[in-house]
Amino acid sequence: MTERTPSRRTTATAPPAFPKPGHNHARCAAEALGKAEAVCAARGTRLTEIRRQVLETVWQSHVPVGAYEILAQLNAGGGDRPPSQNSRALTARGGPPSQNSRALTARGGRHAPMAVYRALEFLMDNGLIHRLASLNAYIGCAHLGEDPHAAQFLICRRCGTTAELKSAALNRALDQAVTERGFTIDSQLVEIGGICPNCRPNHRRPKS
Ligand SMILES: [Zn+2]
Ligand SMILES: [Zn+2]
Ligand SMILES: [Zn+2]
Repeated sequence: MTERTPSRRTTATAPPAFPKPGHNHARCAAEALGKAEAVCAARGTRLTEIRRQVLETVWQSHVPVGAYEILAQLNAGGGDRPPSQNSRALTARGGPPSQNSRALTARGGRHAPMAVYRALEFLMDNGLIHRLASLNAYIGCAHLGEDPHAAQFLICRRCGTTAELKSAALNRALDQAVTERGFTIDSQLVEIGGICPNCRPNHRRPKS
């Protein structure tokens, strides 16, 4: 069954499962930010400055980013502001951040780690980003604005690019397998490591 029906509809907003290098990522990011604003408005919450900045940083690429990297970037002047002199201290890795309570105070940087964690929590609670446990990092939700959903993530071990799948068939299969064991799912997030089509040298990419 290798029918080659190019079912390429011009649904310009539907991102491909694996974004190609050099795609118009500014558009991905702008769309995500726009939808996030709409989601917040609809829920009567606010995408405050810090929340927006964190979301922008998460959306700077399709590679998951850790909380400390987000913080370092914000404090290094990810926005329009001059770089902070304290960003050095904040990029130094000192073990798992959540256990290092001393690090949770601002050291003259523009943002304290706690502020970034709170913003990340807000973004997760509102379904704007997902946390990938295997990487301890965050990725923008590809189905932003939809209700909390089960998702599968394909994580490339080479370039780090991560694509979100939302396969109803997979969800059903998992649901069934789990229910048979008397288990009730309250959250489901599958992380699958591998090599993405962009990193597989012999992969034939569809012509664009
Ligand atoms: Zn993109
Ligand atoms: Zn999602
Ligand atoms: Zn890759």
